[in-house]
Amino acid sequence: MKKSVLLIFASAFALSACGTQTGTTAQEQTQGSEAGINLAWMDKSVVPGDDFFSYANGTWVKDTPIPADRSNIGGFYIADQEREKNTKELFDAILKAKPTSGNDALIANYYNAYVNTDAIDRAGLAPAKADLDAIAAIADKRALSAAIGSTLRADTDPLNATNFHTENLFGIFVTQGLTTPGEQLPYLMQGGIGLPGREYYFSADEAETRAKYKQYITTVLQAAGYADPQGAANRIMDLETRIAQAHETAEQSNDFKLGSQVWTRQQLEQKAPGIDWASLLNAAQLGSVQKFDAYHFAAIPKLAALVGSEPLQNWKDWLAFHQLSSQANVLPKAFRDANFAFYGTTLAGTPQQRPRDILALNATSNALQDAVGKAYVDKYFPASSKAEIQKMVDNIKAAFSKRVKAIDWMAPSTKEEALKKVQNIVVGVGYPDTWRDYSGLQIAADNAYANQKNAALVEYKHQIAKIGKPMDRAEWWMPPQLVNAVNLPVQNALNFPAAILVKPFFDPSADAAFNYGGIGATIGHEISHSFDNGGALFDAQGALRNWWTPADFRKFTAAGDALAAQFDQYEALPGLHVNGKLTLSENIADVAGLAAAYDAYRAAIGGKDLPVKDGLTGDQRFFLAYAQSWAVKSRPETLRQIVLTNGHAPEQFRALTVRNLDAWYPAFSVKPGQKLYLAPDKRVKIWG
Ligand SMILES: [Zn+2]
Repeated sequence: MKKSVLLIFASAFALSACGTQTGTTAQEQTQGSEAGINLAWMDKSVVPGDDFFSYANGTWVKDTPIPADRSNIGGFYIADQEREKNTKELFDAILKAKPTSGNDALIANYYNAYVNTDAIDRAGLAPAKADLDAIAAIADKRALSAAIGSTLRADTDPLNATNFHTENLFGIFVTQGLTTPGEQLPYLMQGGIGLPGREYYFSADEAETRAKYKQYITTVLQAAGYADPQGAANRIMDLETRIAQAHETAEQSNDFKLGSQVWTRQQLEQKAPGIDWASLLNAAQLGSVQKFDAYHFAAIPKLAALVGSEPLQNWKDWLAFHQLSSQANVLPKAFRDANFAFYGTTLAGTPQQRPRDILALNATSNALQDAVGKAYVDKYFPASSKAEIQKMVDNIKAAFSKRVKAIDWMAPSTKEEALKKVQNIVVGVGYPDTWRDYSGLQIAADNAYANQKNAALVEYKHQIAKIGKPMDRAEWWMPPQLVNAVNLPVQNALNFPAAILVKPFFDPSADAAFNYGGIGATIGHEISHSFDNGGALFDAQGALRNWWTPADFRKFTAAGDALAAQFDQYEALPGLHVNGKLTLSENIADVAGLAAAYDAYRAAIGGKDLPVKDGLTGDQRFFLAYAQSWAVKSRPETLRQIVLTNGHAPEQFRALTVRNLDAWYPAFSVKPGQKLYLAPDKRVKIWG
């Protein structure tokens, strides 16, 4: 679950802003020793056993300012700078060639329309007029249901990227059903709120955020010429609060077992009255679908009931606002600025928006993922890196299997299924085997609003076309040009995009200590997701099936409880602790993944120690590479949002995973009494 190694914020705005540009280049920031470690990042005045994150990264944290247009910086940011520099170089060549056909023409048109804010400002609301007129014309609940249906897109993902956020009333995700092996169907998920999570609508701590959100709604509607923007904002806020009340919690969303109910079309209509489902599904191009995975089975009936009970005008205001807010990045300046002021500054603490050419680059790369991805890997991903990573994956899978075999408490039947599962994992390295065909996609050089909508619609059509067909276990869920990695539980597969296979995670010229501590731990993390508290519920075929003996599952759960308690103790901001339960699957994957990567590293060097380099032993370099891959510096607003809504613990605490590995203690002479010291029986061992 939340299989990715790092979750990028879900809002369309933040996604388009995931790149970077500052004065320091990626090259300068990652210049390290011959061993790959950034010696200059370390703070040797810190005792490693007291604060390993600061020992590894303290000087970098102290000396590196967060650029005004960034919410945080760190290892992922540095790798992303390289991705962005490469993409810019690619785009410069494409734009210079003035292509008139094929993928390059799509890229050039998308970029040119997006970057031209003068034209966007001049067009005003004209590109959105048809959408707004259609909303204004809604006269009854049947038309409202159809309007809601026409907004649905493939914009949520409970299993792979664990993205639970959409401003539309429902999100759609298409893959094999959790209890229907071999059969792909649409997952119906809760949505409809503009704040990052349901608790933002109720928590006393968030009163100021709510006030600013309401102000944002008012500003947007004012810019759209609403006669009574304040009154509409009140109605929208009231409706969204009811929607949030209907929502399941983040912990519930992350529980696959709760999300496994399959409803027929008839059951959907019976269990969730209030919506005219025929109108909604027809408008969503799902009119002939007979089976749905009711992922948020408890919320769906409540959301449907609200469609029936809440005044039509409130829904129309809500539809119009979200249409404008979700497309604000391609609307005139008043909309763009208001959107950034709320989502960028209020919620993430970022003072300044990124330059428009960089936003255009990243928006194009997100909208045309395979077109840009193919060009990207052709130029920037060497076959040698692919081969090297594939070898590391095999070694870490072998190390993981060896650990499973050595577990003394586990029944042979449980072990056998676990081993079968690890052997069956399909591993994608760098890029997918097949690329998306974009023929039929209309991208104009002068309509950024239409382009953004068309690209999302084409993606949606691609996804819903899979319904009823067998699942492709080699399907990719991340573009090659994304600094991230992902485990796909129903496919029993992993994706390692090309853009993460660079420093500070991977350096072809560094030795095994560095690479296994860096990208090796990430590989181990993704493999281990197949065996975290969510992944362990799926069998080797990707079906949600219990393959555990009860006694084994009790032991596994107890180890998870201990790890949750360990993370509950970490204080991210004064009074704000990490949520050990919300982040459990990620933390299990970190512990088990680091352990497997360590074993694979020891096996790769033939059991003897590597020579000392830069005054560091091989084991010291392994653990330092790990902690430096989690280097991070975040604005407090961003840190707060991550702790409240994200399934991943903040990176500075993920670096402390080392304290659960026995080998870390002798490597840094960690002694009882030091802050991170854990007695051997308190170190959490999961999967050996
Ligand atoms: Zn993960």
